[in-house]
Amino acid sequence: MACKAFINIGKIVSGAIDNPVLDGDTIIVEDGLIAAIGTADLLDKYQADQIFDVKGTTVTPGLIDSHVHPVLGDFTPRQKTLDFLDSALHGGVTTMISAGEPHTPGRPKDPDGVKALAVLAHKSFYNLRPSGIKVHAGAVILEKGLTEKDFEELSRQGVWLVGEIGLGSVKTADEAATMVGWAKKNKMKVAIHSGGTSIPGSSAITADMVMAINPTVVSHTNGGPTALPEDEIDRLIEQTELPLEIVQCGNIKAAVFIATRLKEKNQLHRIIMGNDSPSGSGIIPLGILRTMAQVASLTGIEPEKVVAMASGNTAGIYGLNCSLVEPGREADLVVMDAPIGSAGQDAMAALQKGDLPGISLVMIDGEAKVFKSRNTPPATRQVEVS
Ligand SMILES: [Zn+2]
Repeated sequence: MACKAFINIGKIVSGAIDNPVLDGDTIIVEDGLIAAIGTADLLDKYQADQIFDVKGTTVTPGLIDSHVHPVLGDFTPRQKTLDFLDSALHGGVTTMISAGEPHTPGRPKDPDGVKALAVLAHKSFYNLRPSGIKVHAGAVILEKGLTEKDFEELSRQGVWLVGEIGLGSVKTADEAATMVGWAKKNKMKVAIHSGGTSIPGSSAITADMVMAINPTVVSHTNGGPTALPEDEIDRLIEQTELPLEIVQCGNIKAAVFIATRLKEKNQLHRIIMGNDSPSGSGIIPLGILRTMAQVASLTGIEPEKVVAMASGNTAGIYGLNCSLVEPGREADLVVMDAPIGSAGQDAMAALQKGDLPGISLVMIDGEAKVFKSRNTPPATRQVEVS
């Protein structure tokens, strides 16, 4: 049994919005799962083969990007870029959720074609994880002509995501609501575009349409990239309990508005974070960290709770066993510290100042995938391995 230990942890950020900081300075990982959290005497009970001395820095869950648009493998035709997923891993992202694969060259738009694409993307990413990242893809795009049987067939093939509604030819609330009913009957999770039109061929989606369609998650409530007006955002906040996604490739003013409103209502469990990339705004390898720093520095929300918006909140909504520091969870962990020169003294204080933490280790399923990040500024204190 492979056993690893993180020792001398300054702060354990759990990823749970209601209990964001855990007591202890030691985490034990066994066979890819978190086995125990506590103090150094755990080392008497567990024989660790590998010890990560994190030198008083912070351990957080691996981050989840709730909104990516992959195609196949680690290449995107949208911005003609290789290794963009690997780059995000260096920004602490260990899990990604596809909001659809609309950038597939020559994307089919007939029912058989969209089904085939979703099955292909789903199986391809499950067979091969780029750089170890858990990419949940194969998010079927809703096109006219899909039937209830098609959703049953997709579900049998393992497809469990519906790409953001609005990308395909299904555009009215009536058409979409019927298909969402079929999708939910088959236990699929449904995303919906919200706000202004993103690319030619997609459509603007208002708060009324979102409420009539009743998805699992409202994608980029702060704009992808054009945000809903504040009064419509308010209606989604007041009249629904839907999770609201904040993305990097959106509108920062609207992001602050959403987070502030939900803080006032004590409903921070409703926020999840994504990049919405690759997109017209590009590819931002540190996009999740940037979104965290923006929300933590501009809203007064504790940075430890902001971490939960990019980890435990999303895992809960999508039913994933990752991105929470808790025994039995998949050992996806990030070690971070204040970057050299930051006004903040540790990773969380840096976020509060609006700085991006420096990452010195990223682990997926108990395997260290990254030590010194090639994308973040260097951490003040680096992990030592023995
Ligand atoms: Zn969108």
